[in-house]
Amino acid sequence: MSNNSWNSPAQNWRTEDQQTSYPVVPVADESFWLQNVDITASDFPHIEPLLEESLSDWLQQNAALDRVGKANWFLFNNELKPLVRPSRAHDSLCEGVQIVAAEALRLRHATEGRTQSKAAAVGYSQVMAMPLYTRNHQQCFALLACIVAPEHPLSLNELEILSMYYAATFYKRFEYTYVADMLYSATVVEREAQRRSVLFQVIQRMYDKFEIDALIHEMFDIVDQMYPQVRFELLVAQDYETTIPRVKLLQLQSPLEDMCVRSFTTGEVAVEVHSRSEGHSDQMETAIPLMGKQGVYGVFHLLSEVPLEEEDLELLAVIADAAGRTFENAKLYEQSKLMNEDLRLINDISKRMNQSLHLQQIFKFAADELLQVFGADFVVAMYLDQEKGVFEVIDGNVEHLIGCTVDQEEGLTGILYRDKEPIILSDYCSNRGVDSVFMRETGACSMIASPMMSGGEVNGAIFLGHSDRHYFSYDNFKLLQVITTHIGLAVSNASLHAELSRMASKDALTGLYQRRYLDESIKNYQNATYSGSLLMVDIDKFKAVNDTYGHQVGDEVLKQVSRVIQRLIRDGDIAARWGGEELAVYFPQVDKSRAHTIAEEIRIAVSEETNPMVTVSCGIADWNWKDQDVSVESLFYRADRALYQAKHSGRNQVCLDLSLRP
Ligand code: GH3
Ligand code: MG
Ligand code: MG
Repeated sequence: MSNNSWNSPAQNWRTEDQQTSYPVVPVADESFWLQNVDITASDFPHIEPLLEESLSDWLQQNAALDRVGKANWFLFNNELKPLVRPSRAHDSLCEGVQIVAAEALRLRHATEGRTQSKAAAVGYSQVMAMPLYTRNHQQCFALLACIVAPEHPLSLNELEILSMYYAATFYKRFEYTYVADMLYSATVVEREAQRRSVLFQVIQRMYDKFEIDALIHEMFDIVDQMYPQVRFELLVAQDYETTIPRVKLLQLQSPLEDMCVRSFTTGEVAVEVHSRSEGHSDQMETAIPLMGKQGVYGVFHLLSEVPLEEEDLELLAVIADAAGRTFENAKLYEQSKLMNEDLRLINDISKRMNQSLHLQQIFKFAADELLQVFGADFVVAMYLDQEKGVFEVIDGNVEHLIGCTVDQEEGLTGILYRDKEPIILSDYCSNRGVDSVFMRETGACSMIASPMMSGGEVNGAIFLGHSDRHYFSYDNFKLLQVITTHIGLAVSNASLHAELSRMASKDALTGLYQRRYLDESIKNYQNATYSGSLLMVDIDKFKAVNDTYGHQVGDEVLKQVSRVIQRLIRDGDIAARWGGEELAVYFPQVDKSRAHTIAEEIRIAVSEETNPMVTVSCGIADWNWKDQDVSVESLFYRADRALYQAKHSGRNQVCLDLSLRP
């Protein structure tokens, strides 16, 4: 049984121990069992309100009798504490009556006396008191007393009869209260039992759920069944996606006066009663936090025309509690599932990327993979050229952007470079904050982008776009951040490797590439491009230089010629020491007439700048995709033949390979 007196007036006078044990009722005399129910001394402190109410009942019923109506009535408890006294009666008058009452209590029958002098001033003189006894054990539980009006005298006998009548009035009220209390206790016990059983089932059913949607459905079902009159919704705080119509997002930016926000932040139940226009009952609004061990996940929001009792709120709070913990478990379970998948993906991607030491391949793999993982419409992978300070689009599915460069300070790429943090844009179409080539060229509405990082430095960037607004979730954004870190590492590995192998393939004397590297490069270009030219350079009469000035000077001259060549070619051209005092330059995507111009510049510069002065002879051959035999050997062979031609024609000149190709 509930522990507090919270609603029933009947409970006000009953002590706790009594509420559980009622007097034994004689079974044989069922019709009169109620008359055997009595108050005992332990009830006395609690019956005062009942005594007072009974006195006003009794006065009302007897008001027509002048002997009652005109007299001034007092009521004392069994310890002579005044419970009722006439409003006009001052303290000394009360004391006078109390003395007579004390005498009546001692003598155990109706007693008469006179009041002190002050009583005469208000015209009263005769005082009477009569103790009242319990019906079973004859214990005095109260005293009735009065100051009799001289014109309406009252005999002691009459007072005894009136007192018996008062006692009967009191017992009638007591019996009524007793029954009401008993009935009430029975319903409370019954309803409590019902609630307990519902609760047990509810919690049992909810704990089975490992899926959040299923749990929420279960909760709605339970509350709908138990409280059909209550309107009920769930406000959730996180970006939890669901199609359940009664689940809404809790707008945390709403003011704190919002009871749901308040309940969410304090973790406590909030109740508000809204009074409405006449003819409409009040409305009760309740917010109960959905709380787990690690935090609050949302708020149950209830609206009810019928006020919910305290027990109902307690029950709903327990359901919310169970739901909160189950919600938390389900969320953790889903997260761990998701996390496992993410980890597997990250592991997979980084493993496969690190298998490749080719930048181009890494970018291609990253772009393809990310497009698929995130279901994006657009992707570009950019590499940061640190020397030039630009990001270059290396791969992606936006063909016309490949090869394009963006300044490292510019647009969204600039922000990635500066902040070293990923960016998420949910609705670029209606809110264009920063100009972005990627967003403009693709027409995407939402985007996530992340810098590739290595050793705390940005070395590239990935952009993913989608035509829909709000396409990417926060989880996507976090996942991209992690994956790009791995791509960044693979990219940095590959560039390091490329740099190392480039250094390893440099010739120590001239600083030009070695022949092997030139061979490899030409082979790669022949696979990936449409055309190119090869220039062979041989110092004229070099043997004579060595013979005249010695080998060291010969070396010096070789270095001078190499420097001239390096100065006059472009970045992408590859100059190498072919062997001895023969040098070679490969010009990607350059035909032989353009190569001829450069060779002429080299020839003239060498003759002007070397000391001791030497001249060079040059042979040039080119290739294009239409050639029958596209190979490094054939290209060298033809360039060498042209060089022989130049030597044969008197040296210090440039000759083109003139072989006819189909
Ligand atoms: P031409 O090419 O005009 O026909 O005459 P050449 O004297 O240059 O012809 P040849 O190919 O017969 O001689 C090449 C000489 O280059 C032979 C060798 O001593 C010299 N040589 C090759 N490598 C080096 C080097 O690294 N340092 C020096 N000082 N000399 C080198
Ligand atoms: Mg030679
Ligand atoms: Mg030579």
